[in-house]
Amino acid sequence: MSHLPQGYVAVRDEIIRACRDARRPPESVELIAVSKTFDAPAIAPVIAAGQRHFGENRVQEAKSKWPPLIAATPAIRLHLIGPLQSNKAKEAVALFDAIHSVDRPSICEALAKEIKSQQRQPLLFAQINTGEEPQKAGVAPQDADDFLARCRDHYGLNISGLMCIPPVDEAPAPHFALTAKIAARNGLKLLSMGMSADFPVAIQFGATHVRVGSAIFGGR
Ligand SMILES: *Cc1c(COP(=O)(O)O)cnc(C)c1O
Repeated sequence: MSHLPQGYVAVRDEIIRACRDARRPPESVELIAVSKTFDAPAIAPVIAAGQRHFGENRVQEAKSKWPPLIAATPAIRLHLIGPLQSNKAKEAVALFDAIHSVDRPSICEALAKEIKSQQRQPLLFAQINTGEEPQKAGVAPQDADDFLARCRDHYGLNISGLMCIPPVDEAPAPHFALTAKIAARNGLKLLSMGMSADFPVAIQFGATHVRVGSAIFGGR
């Protein structure tokens, strides 16, 4: 371990500090290292440093990159953090251990079908479009309760948590607070929120999964 990746070490330290400030145990926050656009040689040192959870935003990219890395380190867990299309649901369920972008009926239907036929149960997060941005994926906050009930009752999907991506030009705290509130009133325990710029704030607001890319791997 002569060459620990500096960005990775700094992010780990920052998570421990944020947990201490929030009076939370450090193991209550799972770091997802977002490796999108980075190739295997860039990812390898982070795996060697002990990181096991990785995030990708495209099914195709993940499929071309991860199978050999997972074969070498079977404890690796892959998270799909980007939008999912129904026609990619089969590959997504086969490859990913968690899907953070469940946000519409067509995806629910495709996922339910694949989960059943593949007998695999990825951890599922519903994405909430807290800023109600038209260009962004996710369920509008006022539709979240209905959507979650429909996931459960109509599709038989086990949604474990919520995910959000705050608007870039706004303070993230109100968006994290809103996501946490929707999760609490729906009995959901997991919160996927916080990126390089704001993960300590997200931890303050109860994030259980932080998705950190550039602070670990550098600029894209
Ligand atoms: C790219 C991405 C991240 C990581 O962003 P950084 O700012 O590089 O940490 C987190 N979440 C999602 C959904 C992303 O697409």
